[in-house]
Amino acid sequence: MILIDGKKEAANLRLELKKEVLALKAKYNKVPGLTVILIGDLAPSQIYVRNKEKSAKEVGLKSEVIKYPSNVEEKTILNKIDELNKDDTVSGILVQLPLPKHIDKKKVIETIIPEKDVDGFHPVNVGNLSSGYESSVPCTPLGCYLLIKKMEPNLSGKKAVVVGRSNLNGKPMTQLLLKENCTVTITHSKTKDLKEECLKGDIVVAAVGIPELVKGDWIKKDAIVIDVGINKIDKGIVGDVAFDEVSKIAKAITPVPGGVGPMTIACLLKNTVECFKRSQR
Ligand code: NAD
Repeated sequence: MILIDGKKEAANLRLELKKEVLALKAKYNKVPGLTVILIGDLAPSQIYVRNKEKSAKEVGLKSEVIKYPSNVEEKTILNKIDELNKDDTVSGILVQLPLPKHIDKKKVIETIIPEKDVDGFHPVNVGNLSSGYESSVPCTPLGCYLLIKKMEPNLSGKKAVVVGRSNLNGKPMTQLLLKENCTVTITHSKTKDLKEECLKGDIVVAAVGIPELVKGDWIKKDAIVIDVGINKIDKGIVGDVAFDEVSKIAKAITPVPGGVGPMTIACLLKNTVECFKRSQR
């Protein structure tokens, strides 16, 4: 069994990006810029944003975090996004989710211009991805995709099963696998026999949010298993896959932590660099 080392792959990706940023600086005399808007003081959001800022600086991006209290007016956020949309030094804008209840997530996502939407959440980017055109791709599924491709460069004709249909993970994951000519099944909370569906997968991606949902006898021998879940339980942090059981069956599996998580932030940096490059064409 191969333990897919997301930490190592993310470090490799950051190193590649660092070199690319240096080359872009030499060519254009400026570097890609990432601006993160953080609203409120939720501890996990603060940690994510701090990690994003640290990683952005490490690869040489211009990085800025703009903080607002949780009672900030929606209008203030939308105006700030408008300002950043017009700012040439900003290549990518990210508004950290979740948002306070009084702020409309859809409005916020749609105010960021698609060209600077490093999260890949804007309907234009979602549409471009599903049409097979160039687009920003949500960071977590992009990270999963890069890990899968590392394990299996030719995915054509493989059977892939995605568990979970969120806009953040399951749906874009499905599109990325389709683009690689996989035969994709997308499953969700109303799927009749999840075990039976999972057993068909040469590749299984679990993005559900239920601790250790995917069991050892749900996985075909030699499958590649990608665990997106991050669940806090008494024994610590676990994924959506029962790691001890599944790792005995699968060809390769991502651990939690240390699998998909580190790739997510590295892919955010990648998306920022890609947005910058497209803006220079
Ligand atoms: P979500 O709640 O938006 O979506 C969960 C999906 O799972 C839904 O589509 C639902 O239909 C499906 N589902 C629920 N119960 C199910 C069941 N019993 N059987 C089959 N499907 C079921 O969640 P999300 O935002 O996609 O996140 C999923 C998990 O991934 C969470 O644990 C989250 O913390 C984690 N996550 C990790 C990263 C990372 O960087 N590793 C990033 C984002 C989210």
